[in-house]
Amino acid sequence: MEVRTRFAPSPTGYMHLGGLRTALYAYLFARKNGGKFILRIEDTDQSRYVEGAVDAIYRTLCDVGLDWDEGPDKGGDFGPYIQSERKGLYLPYAEELVEKGAAYYCFCTREELDARRAECEARGETFKYDKHCLSLSVEEVERRRSAGEPYVIRFNVPEKGEASFTDIIYGCITVDCADLDDMILIKADGMPTYNFANVIDDHTMGITHILRGSEFLASTPKYNLIYDAFGWEKPVYIHLTNIMRDAHHKLSKRDGDAYYEDYIGKGFLKEAIVNYVALLGWNPKDEREFFTLDEMVAAFSLEGLSKSPAIFDINKLTWMNAEYIRGLSEEEFTAHALPYYREAGVERMDKAVLAKILQPRVETFAQIPAIVDFLSELPEYDIELFTNKKSKTNPEIAREVLKLVIPMLKGLPAWEETAIHDALINLAAERGMKNGTLLWPVRIAMAGKTVTPGGAIEIALLLGRDETLRRLELGERKLEEL
Ligand code: GLU
Repeated sequence: MEVRTRFAPSPTGYMHLGGLRTALYAYLFARKNGGKFILRIEDTDQSRYVEGAVDAIYRTLCDVGLDWDEGPDKGGDFGPYIQSERKGLYLPYAEELVEKGAAYYCFCTREELDARRAECEARGETFKYDKHCLSLSVEEVERRRSAGEPYVIRFNVPEKGEASFTDIIYGCITVDCADLDDMILIKADGMPTYNFANVIDDHTMGITHILRGSEFLASTPKYNLIYDAFGWEKPVYIHLTNIMRDAHHKLSKRDGDAYYEDYIGKGFLKEAIVNYVALLGWNPKDEREFFTLDEMVAAFSLEGLSKSPAIFDINKLTWMNAEYIRGLSEEEFTAHALPYYREAGVERMDKAVLAKILQPRVETFAQIPAIVDFLSELPEYDIELFTNKKSKTNPEIAREVLKLVIPMLKGLPAWEETAIHDALINLAAERGMKNGTLLWPVRIAMAGKTVTPGGAIEIALLLGRDETLRRLELGERKLEEL
């Protein structure tokens, strides 16, 4: 039997990391088994529809390389793949259940239901639909329907017994039928409820394995009653444990850092995000931590899925991202860094030098502007920065150094790495100074701060001759005011 998995997002917002993980595991399982991965948009609940959410789903899946075999844009033999385009398909299934005695028409109005609920609650009981309309005769149902009375179709949950199923992660889940409500399958407007559409779609699309969030665990016994009523074979269920922010809180959409695109915006690499998300709840059972998508496909198994909730650790993701950044070629690094170079106003500086000093030290691209902002604008600084014990320098020494260095650099025939390096080192040697004693003041005058990426020579290369000399002269003037 061919494995068919699906990702069935409701377009209610951007792609949550939990959603991305669900999609990823469904994709990995399908690919691993040579099966099909299907994308279905579950937009029956139009009131929760968020503009742009469908695009965010496509964008994210494409971005990370989770290509689907069948879906809204790709087509396939089981389409349409958007629920709102399948509207007409559900009613006949509900009618079939009515014929089988597993569902019934219900004419109870909202007011009637509210009144009965209130009575029930007054007695301290929780209300569930009381099967009031189950006893209506076929003739009465026909009469009221032809008279145009509004109705819904409800599922007739057995009054006794249990509904149970075995989930791959959670094991055997059993609920008492007496605790289940006669759920509505078709609403008064003729549209299916979310739950009914979900079941009909999974069956008619031939889905064999359902991977989804654990929030559906409690609904699944109800879904299975529908499968049983039709006599359909049930899919294998794999409910994924939650992704937690800490031991007590789910990574919530409200924290503003739960969405894939938030992390892209913060300068994380998609490869690192996917790699990290994959490991939130899946253990490859070896020491490896770094996986390309293809490597994940090869290593994936349901046995590796975790039974306990995963805690999202931003430090681990950041560390992993840094590792991915180190692994980029210079061109790739520059391509990712460019928007941040623009933000910092350094986009016209030597890209090879920028990459050389930044690639080993940034953990996310968004850190770049704060690290290089001194290149586009010299910060205000205090001459006390010229004091450094280890380099054996202080403002007086710095003044002497700058006096020597400025004319020397002015006279350099070419502004390039070896020339600048050799000139500075030779000068230190001639004067019997430690390299640090000479380089510290030069770097401080160029950067206006003590901690910089790269050393004096790289900074000089990035600033260019004119700006380097302007800054050194400024430093010299500051020191002359001593
Ligand atoms: N549409 C549901 C959601 O976006 C997923 C339903 C399912 O996977 O069965 O949360």
